[in-house]
Amino acid sequence: VCQPTANAEGSPRTTNHQHTRDLNRAYRVSSPQKETTMLNWDDEPTSAAATPHINNPEGAPAAEVAKRVNADDKRIINGETDVNQLVPFKYKWAWDKYLAGCANHWMPQEVNMQRDIELWKNPNGLSEDERRLVKRNLGFFVTADSLAANNIVLGTYRHITAPECRQYLLRQAFEEAIHTHAYQYIVESLGLDEGEIFNAYNEIESIHDKDQFLIPFIDVLTNPDFKTGTTENDQKLLKSIIVFACLMEGLFFYVGFTQILALGRQNKMTGAAEQYQYILRDESMHVNFGIDLINTIKMENPQLWTP
Ligand code: FE
Repeated sequence: VCQPTANAEGSPRTTNHQHTRDLNRAYRVSSPQKETTMLNWDDEPTSAAATPHINNPEGAPAAEVAKRVNADDKRIINGETDVNQLVPFKYKWAWDKYLAGCANHWMPQEVNMQRDIELWKNPNGLSEDERRLVKRNLGFFVTADSLAANNIVLGTYRHITAPECRQYLLRQAFEEAIHTHAYQYIVESLGLDEGEIFNAYNEIESIHDKDQFLIPFIDVLTNPDFKTGTTENDQKLLKSIIVFACLMEGLFFYVGFTQILALGRQNKMTGAAEQYQYILRDESMHVNFGIDLINTIKMENPQLWTP
């Protein structure tokens, strides 16, 4: 029954009431009589599906059925719909990024670090400047992704009222944990002084200054007394998300990635460079999600954006 056809982008796609084979596999519910699919973005409600008989087989009170979540009522911030109900979907871009993030799953131990270990142990393997670059770089990142994870879990998440966006943020938080793991794995593989690397954000002025710039924007959201719902606070939230997604993840992180990727291009620290490529792939998604989040908050709350 399912006949995938190619769309303009060449990816497999089915018409109307059909899915790609992968989506069918992911969402199919089997019954002895027939197979039904639970998710189809292109489906319009049919008159049959809209009848109380189909939607309300258990005979729930009509007043309760009337209170069910309507996708049009969902909002990214200050929404009043039930955050526990992922569907009906409204923010497809967030759900798509959640699926893409899961498809990109990786773990640091999958990357072979043997060449890096040999290069680091070889007294002539790297110059002193290159060794300082690696240690400074790790010194920034070993704590930076923990700041990012804490900002999501303790700050941003509770202020976002769209469950599709929360779903992505949960995936993003786990990816930040994988990145912290990756940096720790490099530190351990090379036999670096953990105390020196993990305290760099306290002890190295340039790293300390970067984090001191970021921390007030994190603190505002993690403050238990902070609540959205006023123009002033909604603007603070929006500003914090911009600083986090665009400046921290979009600028500070990328400046760091280029340093290790440049060594990799010279055939040095190739294991670390491979780890950073996977991290870069994840962070590109984080930045894109952040930009979509910012733009959607702007569209829903144009009064927050001032010249
Ligand atoms: Fe990130």
